[in-house]
Amino acid sequence: MALIVQKYGGTSVGSVERIQAVAQRVKRSRDQGHEVVVVVSAMSGETDRLIGLAHAIQPRPVPRELDVLIATGEQVTIALLAMALEAVGCPARSYTGSQVQIRTDSAHNKARIRDIDGARVGSDLEAGRVVVVAGFQGIDRAGNITTLGRGGSDTSAVAMAAALKADECQIYTDVDGVYTTDPRIEPRARKLDRITFEEMLEMASLGSKVLQIRAVEFAGKYRVPLRVLSSFSEGEGTLISFEEENVEDAKIAGIAFAKDEAKLTVLGVPDQPGIAHKILGPISEANVEVDMIVQNVGSDNATTDFTFTVHRNDYDTALRVLHETAEHLSAREVSGDQTIVKLSLVGVGMRSHAGIASQMFEALAREGINIRMISTSEIKISVVIDEKYLELGVRALHEAFGLAKKTIL
Ligand code: ADP
Ligand code: ASP
Ligand code: MG
Repeated sequence: MALIVQKYGGTSVGSVERIQAVAQRVKRSRDQGHEVVVVVSAMSGETDRLIGLAHAIQPRPVPRELDVLIATGEQVTIALLAMALEAVGCPARSYTGSQVQIRTDSAHNKARIRDIDGARVGSDLEAGRVVVVAGFQGIDRAGNITTLGRGGSDTSAVAMAAALKADECQIYTDVDGVYTTDPRIEPRARKLDRITFEEMLEMASLGSKVLQIRAVEFAGKYRVPLRVLSSFSEGEGTLISFEEENVEDAKIAGIAFAKDEAKLTVLGVPDQPGIAHKILGPISEANVEVDMIVQNVGSDNATTDFTFTVHRNDYDTALRVLHETAEHLSAREVSGDQTIVKLSLVGVGMRSHAGIASQMFEALAREGINIRMISTSEIKISVVIDEKYLELGVRALHEAFGLAKKTIL
C-alpha cells in the first residue's frame, strides 16, 4: 500500500463527465489498496474567465481581491469531485487551501508555500477517505486567501506530497507525459520515459508549461518522486529522475520556448564602469525581472549599446523606466520589440558533447532564421528570434537533433 498524491489539471476536470472519469480513476487506485490525496485545478477556462471579470471592473485589479475571486475556481471542482467520488461509493472529503492550512507568504497572485499542516488530511486518510484538496491556493499569516501563480496547482500537489511524505506525486494532464517539445507545435515530438530533474527544471524555467517551475523546484528540494501522466489514457507517463546520469542517453532532452518575451535596447550610453547597474537598477526597483542581457563593445570606445529581455507583461513598465534612465544618461535612443520569442535546447548531454551550439546555429541559419541574442549555461542554449519563426525554429531543431519519433518502416 502506498500514499499517492494525484493532481488533475483544468482539462481533466473540464466537464461533469470528466470529473466522473477522474473519480473512477481515483477509485481504481484506492481499490488497489492505496491511500489517495487528490489536488485539482479549476475547470478549464474558468481561471481566465474570472480574471476577465476582474479586468472588466479594474484594469489592474487589487491583488488581494483578485486572489479571493480566482481561488473560487478550485473550490467548485473539489466539491464536485468529492460528490462524484461519494456517488461511486468512495468516501471523500474536500478542503480548500485555507482549511488544509497550506500556509504561504503574502505575495498575492504569486505566493510561495511556506508549510502545510498535514494533520487533518492524515486523520481523513486513516478513516479510509479520499482527501480532495483545492490546488493553486493558500492562506497567509493574517488569514488572507493567496494564490500561487498560473499553473500553481502543480506546486500545491508536489508540496502536499512533500508534507505527507507521499510515495509518489502523479500529475495527470492532457498529454501522456513530458515530450521532446510541446506536441502542439511539433506533432512528431516524442514522449520521454524519463527526464532528469535538472533537465525538467530547465525546460520548465525556459517556458515548457507542462509543469510549473516551482513544482519542479519543490520536488528537487524534498526529493518527491514525480511523474507526469495522461488522465485520458493508460501508461507509465514520464518519471522525473533524480539520477544524475543521462537517462535517455541523448545529447538533447528537449526544446523549450517562451512566447511572452520582449526586448529593450538603449543605444549610445557612456561606456563606463557602473553603466549596467545604472540601467538595470531602476528596472529592478520597478519590480521587473530581467532575463537575458547583452552589452556590446562600443565602436568608438566612448559609448555602448545595451539590450535586455523582460516578460511581455512588464514591457510597458520597463520601457517607461528605460526612457527616464536614458534621459539621465544622455543616451542616443531607446527602442523595444514585443515580437520576439526565446527558443532553448536543453540536455545534460551537452556537458560531454562539444559543438552543440554551432549545430544549433547552423540549423537555424539553414531556415534563414536570424538570431538576435544568445545565452548559454552548462545544460542549455537559448536564442532570441522573431516570433514569426517560432514554429519553424522548433521544428528545425527537432529535426537537426534527431528528436522525432522513430517511425516503423
Ligand atoms: P493542466 O491544465 O493539466 O495543468 P497544462 O496545459 O498546464 O495542463 O500543461 C499541459 C500542456 O503542456 C500540454 O497540453 C502541452 O501542450 C504543453 N507542453 C508544453 N511543453 C510540453 C512538453 N515538453 N511536453 C508535454 N507537454 C508540453
Ligand atoms: N487554475 C489555475 C490556472 O489556471 C491553476 C492551475 O490550473 O494549475 O492557472
Ligand atoms: Mg498546468
